[in-house]
Amino acid sequence: MTTIGFIGLGHMGGPMAANLVKAGHRVKGFDLSPQSLDQARENGVLPCKTLAETVDGAETVITMLPAGKHVVSVWEDLVAVVSAGTLLVDCSTIDIDSARKAHAMAAAKNCPSLDAPVSGGTGGASAGTLSFMIGGERDAFLRAEPLFQAMGKRIVHCGDAAAGQAAKICNNMILGISMIAVGEAFVLGEKLGLSHQALFDVASASSGQCWSLTTYCPVPGPVPASPANNDYRPGFAGALMLKDLLLSQEAAGAAGAMTPLGAKAAELYRSFVENGGGDSDFSGIINLLRDSSGSGGE
Ligand code: NAD
Repeated sequence: MTTIGFIGLGHMGGPMAANLVKAGHRVKGFDLSPQSLDQARENGVLPCKTLAETVDGAETVITMLPAGKHVVSVWEDLVAVVSAGTLLVDCSTIDIDSARKAHAMAAAKNCPSLDAPVSGGTGGASAGTLSFMIGGERDAFLRAEPLFQAMGKRIVHCGDAAAGQAAKICNNMILGISMIAVGEAFVLGEKLGLSHQALFDVASASSGQCWSLTTYCPVPGPVPASPANNDYRPGFAGALMLKDLLLSQEAAGAAGAMTPLGAKAAELYRSFVENGGGDSDFSGIINLLRDSSGSGGE
């Protein structure tokens, strides 16, 4: 059993902390929201009133916060109160710069650190089936691996500091672009009189095959579990896809990588969110494409 401090007990952090409790760990939790703390208490987390109380006696501290600015601010306070040697792990999805800053703050305090963003959504967080993409030194990774195993299924050490965030940003750029590509194909198929099922049957077994088509099909019917069959309830919200695409564009600008389709995908998802799609599943982007084409569904 390990004592873990868990900071940020929202949609993702709440169930992740609960899975650490289920795996037999002692989990001390902190969140600015009293509701999140109450929910965590019901899941066996010991609620704390301050950061200092949360990290007291903890061998590992995990953060799961909205964005880079929250992580940098919390880690600034964290390194002031943790003991040297405490393992610090950030599971939030954040920009590369903030991730590097967090690693540097930890190193200055002689604390090993990891960036460990996840994919798999709230369903994966509850079921303990998240994928973890991890950046940081190998020793720190090996120390944290049993904790990742309690919260996830697929655990990949991607490289040094910020490599986990890099993998997450690149993967989600593929996802955003491919969902638009699949949506465009269905809208064009509709215009050409092709049924959704016929296009699915061909493309899912041909070179157009991809996750956005076969697991998350953006039209109702061919994949019964996809959010399109549930009025595009998330799933993975449009606002989060926009956040990740903007992170990819920030990283591409800083690194000098040419990502024209990533840039276009960010532009389309911005329009989707501005038109009310922020709380819908990101696969609902097909409706924006269809509306822009001036047509109804099949
Ligand atoms: P959320 O808003 O539900 O949870 C964030 C929590 O952090 C909130 O409870 C908030 O009160 C707390 N918080 C904010 N500032 C704080 C502070 N200074 N101290 C303590 N607590 C603070 O967000 P979420 O959906 O759980 O997402 C968390 C991270 O996971 C984000 O970076 C997101 O991009 C990433 N992510 C989310 C999903 C998803 O499907 N929700 C999937 C993959 C990755």
